[in-house]
Amino acid sequence: MMDLKQIDKQYVANTYARFPVELVKGKGSLVYDETGKEYIDMGSGIGVTAFGIADDEWQAAVTAQLGKLQHMSNLYYTEPCTLLAETLCKKTGMKKVFFCNSGAEANEGAIKAARKYAADKKGPEYFTIVTLINSFHGRTLTTLAATGQDHYHELFQPLTPGFVHAPANDLEAVKSAALENKAAAVMIECIQGEGGVIALEKDFITGLADFCKEQDILLVVDEVQTGNGRTGELYAYMNYGVTPDVVSTAKGLGGGLPLGAVLFGEKTEFTLGAGDHGSTFGGNPVCCAGALSIVNRMDESFLEGVKAKGQLIKDTLQGQPGIEAVSGMGLMVGIKTVKPAGDVVKACIEKGVLCLTAKDKVRLLPALNIPEDLLKKALAVILDCAK
Ligand SMILES: *Cc1c(COP(=O)(O)O)cnc(C)c1O
Repeated sequence: MMDLKQIDKQYVANTYARFPVELVKGKGSLVYDETGKEYIDMGSGIGVTAFGIADDEWQAAVTAQLGKLQHMSNLYYTEPCTLLAETLCKKTGMKKVFFCNSGAEANEGAIKAARKYAADKKGPEYFTIVTLINSFHGRTLTTLAATGQDHYHELFQPLTPGFVHAPANDLEAVKSAALENKAAAVMIECIQGEGGVIALEKDFITGLADFCKEQDILLVVDEVQTGNGRTGELYAYMNYGVTPDVVSTAKGLGGGLPLGAVLFGEKTEFTLGAGDHGSTFGGNPVCCAGALSIVNRMDESFLEGVKAKGQLIKDTLQGQPGIEAVSGMGLMVGIKTVKPAGDVVKACIEKGVLCLTAKDKVRLLPALNIPEDLLKKALAVILDCAK
């Protein structure tokens, strides 16, 4: 392609600081640029291609559905959407699922449900959502308001009102913020992803769950990044032994096609009724057929494998020259390097490994089925670039 990068700069909105790499194809955890150079993919499209690029089973599920029915509106029943909802509920104990197209949209659905639940139950003044400082919940005006990082807010005032931010791991502060502001819900990421791959403390999350239950304030867990096997459990809250009232997810769910979901628990399963919420593309049969092929393979032994590979990453990197600390869970990993993370990521690209950053960390979100030999090869390159 003639100077694709220049054409892109001219015609695509400049909202992304792209790396100077054009990717044309891939298979599993390997991708190739237009010159044929091979890369090990340690980012999986920001935790999206859960089983890698062009995974055979996923591809078969998607193409079979594509040839049958690529879209009907939500005015009708379609099998993939129904079966995916059933599967997600059976695997989590949640009661109902609303499908949408992205993480931000899933959070919008969760927030709407929380507001309606609290208004129905306690009165319309109970609309505030408490979120955590350093959180990330999306780019729409409402999910930006939810995001507890001021620098995302500055250019887009006024944002949706009704959000307050409290410090993570400070249970007393979150409790007072919730009580003083007549909170409808507290919304958290169990591991702050964009915020630097920081897992919240167990006592904080269990204490918060108890408090929310006592006060009938909804516990909403944003599993957009942490969900769908990423941490070695199907959803990250399962690592903490709590039961959320609402779970939002997206990224890895569709295996590479846009799909988000809001999972409603016992308290909220009937909160949104006919006409209260909707989405034209939500629950698209092709996306849902792909998602079914992904979620159905996430059994206990598969998730054990995710945990083992996460441990392998920690064991390989921890204490090595240039590595200050390794954080995260399963295959959601943050690496605090001595050198600036951006420099390490650039050097890795040169050497054929694609990594991400999150704040001041190098972030790894490889495909969950990345073969161990490729993982080890990529870690050797990262170590080499970090030292
Ligand atoms: C990526 C992300 C979002 C936003 O998802 P989009 O699909 O980009 O809208 C929301 N919450 C968390 C925790 C995320 O990591």
